[in-house]
Amino acid sequence: MTAIAQNLQLVHDKIRQATQACHRSFDDVKLLAVSKKKPASAIREAYQSGQLAFGENYVQEALDKMEQLKDLTIEWHFIGSIQSKKSSLIAQHFSWVHTVDRIKVAHLLNEHRTIEQPPLNICIQVNLDNELSKSGVSIADCLPLAKQILSMNQLRLRGLMAIPKPYETFEQQYQSFKRLTELQHDIAKQLNLTLDTLSMGMSADMIAAIHAGSTLVRVGEAIFGARQ
Ligand SMILES: *Cc1c(COP(=O)(O)O)cnc(C)c1O
Repeated sequence: MTAIAQNLQLVHDKIRQATQACHRSFDDVKLLAVSKKKPASAIREAYQSGQLAFGENYVQEALDKMEQLKDLTIEWHFIGSIQSKKSSLIAQHFSWVHTVDRIKVAHLLNEHRTIEQPPLNICIQVNLDNELSKSGVSIADCLPLAKQILSMNQLRLRGLMAIPKPYETFEQQYQSFKRLTELQHDIAKQLNLTLDTLSMGMSADMIAAIHAGSTLVRVGEAIFGARQ
């Protein structure tokens, strides 16, 4: 077995243990393999061990890898910060975007997603701690943005995403993720709709995220090893 295949198995084991510990089903948590700064060959290796969804942060790097891997049926997720001028490429080449945090970007993605394609799956990125260095909409601006996205035909709102402050303890990580879970419940209730995706948890905090209700963990280093 390759190192990547072994790592994938370890991550699956972690997800299984965490879901069991909080009485959730293993199938309720999707694993997104974050392959930024890793070569196409590493993605191919993970794919051959059964991993189908991959997350990328940089548009040009992702397009290069898509070209090299076009013989595979990969589900591509964009998880990087979105520059307006790249929104057309993002809209056309990805199935999911996790980092929508302004109306302007939502409009551009909607405009550039072609009608031949299925609607683009969207998560709104929330800046839970109002950190200046991070993108994401404030908690207060999340509901209005969700409303706008719902009116856009080529977009399908799936839920919320966050990258909380890097806390040390499980309890701090858990409390932080719990705020995103609660915000998602509030928004679903106020808009009378179902949101099925909570994109939260990375290599260092995925266990706490699963306990707090994550339905999609974005894991890079635990699968592919440390990045440069
Ligand atoms: C890089 C990245 C990840 C993965 O982080 P790891 O620590 O490698 O698991 C997850 N989400 C986003 C948005 C990222 O940029």
